Amino acid sequence: MAKSATSFSRPAVASFDRLHTFHGGLKLPGHRELSASRPIISAGVPAILVLPLQQHIGAPAECLVQPGDTVHKGQLIARQVGTISAAVHASSSGTVTAIEDRPVPHPSGLQAPCIIIETDGLDRYQDSQSNALDYTRMEADEICDHIRRAGIVGLGGAGFPTQAKLGCGKHKINLLLINAVECEPYITCDNRLIQERAAEVIEGARVLQHAVQADNCIIAIEDDMTVAEQALHTALAASNATGIKVTRVPEIYPSGGERQLIKVLTGREVPSQGFPSDIGIICQNVGTTAAVYNAVIKQQPLLSRIVTVTGDGVVQPQNIETLIGTPVSHLVAAAGGYTHDVERLLIGGPMMGYTVPVDNIPVTKTLNCILAVTREEMPAPPPAQPCIRCGKCTDVCPADLLPQQLYWYARSSNQDAAQDYGLFDCIECGCCAYVCPSHIPLVQYYRHAKSEIWLAEKQTKASDIARQRHEAHLNRLERIKQERAERMAKKKQALSSDGGSSDKKKAAIEAALERVKQKKEQAEMMPRNVDNLTSEQQQLIDAVDKRRQQKDESE
Ligand code: SF4
Ligand code: SF4
Repeated sequence: MAKSATSFSRPAVASFDRLHTFHGGLKLPGHRELSASRPIISAGVPAILVLPLQQHIGAPAECLVQPGDTVHKGQLIARQVGTISAAVHASSSGTVTAIEDRPVPHPSGLQAPCIIIETDGLDRYQDSQSNALDYTRMEADEICDHIRRAGIVGLGGAGFPTQAKLGCGKHKINLLLINAVECEPYITCDNRLIQERAAEVIEGARVLQHAVQADNCIIAIEDDMTVAEQALHTALAASNATGIKVTRVPEIYPSGGERQLIKVLTGREVPSQGFPSDIGIICQNVGTTAAVYNAVIKQQPLLSRIVTVTGDGVVQPQNIETLIGTPVSHLVAAAGGYTHDVERLLIGGPMMGYTVPVDNIPVTKTLNCILAVTREEMPAPPPAQPCIRCGKCTDVCPADLLPQQLYWYARSSNQDAAQDYGLFDCIECGCCAYVCPSHIPLVQYYRHAKSEIWLAEKQTKASDIARQRHEAHLNRLERIKQERAERMAKKKQALSSDGGSSDKKKAAIEAALERVKQKKEQAEMMPRNVDNLTSEQQQLIDAVDKRRQQKDESE
């Protein structure tokens, strides 16, 4: 329901004219020409959609459908659980055939619970499309609610639920940063998105700016994105947007990293283990921004994304509009299939991506690139050698860490020292491994160390919960014991103050005891069965009787 407009006048964008630099980084060959010049195509509707319940950071969504259910496009099929979580929707119409573990895009090659939909090819929505909404009449909470219900997460790769990141009203935000700086070589999905849908990006930015009440908004693009820049300026001129600025940043990898981009544009550092909102900045990927436009203005959940399918290992590299849940194999086929000399398949770019052994994994909300490479294009690294302490890794680290020290501690499982050396400030950009003359797979060590720490934290949490439960159990037993003792004490007190009735009870008990005693004596006096006694037994009985008689006479 539309609410009254929030009144705030947006001043002209603050200068942010001067660009800054961050420590380290690399100038890498872009390989973007492979896919950047071709228009986005549609992958269509695949025969099967595989929708993981967890496509984001946080708690997995809770499944709401069963095998045999018919679903329509856009239907909520798994709901958000808690604040840091995201809903999942059917990205096309069809029938749910299974809910089971399937391989998902992950460096570990793990399987995870997924909803499998056999599509009907109709791609039909249940309801006719709603009218566009006027976001300017919405409060921040209402905008966040639209974003939450649409299941939007950071499409740049991190997958943090967008409504949680916005914090709508929880932080004082001065600058909204729309990140269109492609983070890695080869990837061009954000570039193509801007070139073809700049108006949606501008509208999405305005919605976000309204939601977080940011005075300033910068859309950051890379130096070589001239067509995209022109498209943004045209869209800006066509809208009546104010306070939005387009800025080009140098092509230094990883300028697209959130912390690095903030440093380049503002000169400010995000605190270690902190968030950009701690310094009044919110950063959103440009794909996420377009998804926000769809969610808030067109009331559409997140059902698709643009994926760059590239590398010399596919026939026709290009960007493809893909329904979430589409198998990677379907996308490779849409890009003309594999070339005869394809060697490896990576999810993500060459620096932060990971090799996958199969292509029957689904496209998730965060999957931005499928890279099929030949041996010539990306030879397998030679075997790792010992660290020679050359310091090259330190020179290029954009997080200003000491990668060789981190490696040392991660390798020896000295997690405390690794954390002291900023393990969790490492953005896993891969610059250190790229320049290492010993070819040490440094990032793998960091990832492993982080997962060990997370696992240990999880176990500690679990044992804390178990301990708390045990203590609660003991407390309950103690309480029951005390209550019982109190009840007994009360009873005793009641008995002692009952006006003599306890004396009667006492007398009755004593009389009963006396009766028992008498019965016992009578039993002893009863004549015994003497029919079968031996002569010795008879003599013994006679002697006892005689002695009893003498005793009675003497008394
Ligand atoms: S670049 Fe490699 S060899 Fe050189 S100090 Fe770093 S880890 Fe050691
Ligand atoms: S992977 Fe981590 S340690 Fe290595 S250069 Fe990047 S931020 Fe630094």
